[in-house]
Amino acid sequence: MTDLPLALVTGASRGIGAAVAHALEPSHRVLLGGRDTAALAERAAELPGSRPWPVDLSDFDAVRAAVADIDRLDVLVHSAGVAELGTVEEAGAEDWRRNFEVNVVVVAELTRLLLPALRAAKGHVVVINSGAGLTARAGWGPYAASKFAARAFADVLRAEEEPNGVRVTSVHPGRTDTEMQRAIVAGEGGEYRPEKYLRPDSVAMAVLAAVSASPDAHLTELIVRPR
Ligand code: NAP
Repeated sequence: MTDLPLALVTGASRGIGAAVAHALEPSHRVLLGGRDTAALAERAAELPGSRPWPVDLSDFDAVRAAVADIDRLDVLVHSAGVAELGTVEEAGAEDWRRNFEVNVVVVAELTRLLLPALRAAKGHVVVINSGAGLTARAGWGPYAASKFAARAFADVLRAEEEPNGVRVTSVHPGRTDTEMQRAIVAGEGGEYRPEKYLRPDSVAMAVLAAVSASPDAHLTELIVRPR
């Protein structure tokens, strides 16, 4: 077990991150990122090859302390995210800040702190982006802009770190049946019908495909839409 590669999955307490942790656990030791310690304990009980990694990712002192003992990391999956929507007229500075803080700044800083460990393992960084990181629609400004920025971050990271053996994949899921999607649909005033959306494990399968690609292949961007 201890010889298995090490993966850190943020946002693993629920939703897409929890599904990614499930998909990786048979072949990886998995650190489960999140703030909800009760949910992390439940996930860890389901997955013997995992353990909780509880940290508020926007507390950078806490993040520095939490990564201090990671000197080799094979897979880093950024799934933690927030979706504060609103038109340009409605969304204030705080909405823009919250989206950019968690969806961009946290992703950049956690990656930066873990770069030596990722280089040591010739590891893989997966950024869970969104369809909103490819197409910006009315009412989605602060979230879409943060996801466009996250895509630019992943492209730059790939260009800089591919020579060091690090692979970088942006995954762009469409609407997925999670608490985040429930909140979005409630805000839109629509009826929540889970069968209309992707299952979190369907997104996790795309992450697994990227991470388990043969060494000569680099899956750079994956778009996953509900059928
Ligand atoms: P979710 O169910 O709302 O889960 C969000 C996760 O992010 C939780 O595990 C939460 O952990 C974690 N998180 C948020 N802020 C954090 C912070 N400051 N520090 C640590 N952890 C934090 O969301 P989801 O639907 O699974 O979304 C996962 C990713 O997929 C996001 O990047 C989202 O933008 C993207 N995405 C989602 C959809 C969709 O339709 N659901 C579609 C496309 C892309 P705690 O609760 O433990 O704090």
